Amino acid sequence: MVYPRQGGKRSPRQPRCRAEGCRNYPGEGTLHPGIGYCRGHENRAAEEAWRVALEVAQELDVSPWEAIIMAVRRAAGRVAWVDEQLSAVTRANDGDSSAREVMRWLSESRKERALLARTAKAAIDAGVAERLVRQVELEGRVVAEVLGRVLDRLSLDADQRQLAFATAHEELLTLEGQVGE
Ligand SMILES: [Zn+2]
Repeated sequence: MVYPRQGGKRSPRQPRCRAEGCRNYPGEGTLHPGIGYCRGHENRAAEEAWRVALEVAQELDVSPWEAIIMAVRRAAGRVAWVDEQLSAVTRANDGDSSAREVMRWLSESRKERALLARTAKAAIDAGVAERLVRQVELEGRVVAEVLGRVLDRLSLDADQRQLAFATAHEELLTLEGQVGE
């Protein structure tokens, strides 16, 4: 991974930390020189997001930016997948929301949503544009929605449907790991 070189004279045209009026270089004094906020302007969540992103980036050979976006996309995909399981078991239990299976997926869904919210916030704190983060979240929902409709048309039974959705979910994550290589 190559970061822009630091040091030398600071010309007004050089990129800076994203904080208003800050004269530091992007990522100055942080784990991620060359991108995002400087040490003084970065918060805990962002620091953690970058730490994870740099690890993932190295592992998958993508840029740390892509790794951060990927984390949001994965979390959004997880939410969609869990919600699909939830609606499948709800249907199987004739809409009985007190059924044990339904309650289990309900709590799973809450957990995944909370994780998505934290991931999205960390990405925004790390300096990813909020608009882009929301778009990625939305894409996760759209993909799941389209997939759900396709499966509806195939009139599969509940088990086949679940298997098809889980397989597609897995394949999407695998594919995503390969994009950007
Ligand atoms: Zn700064």
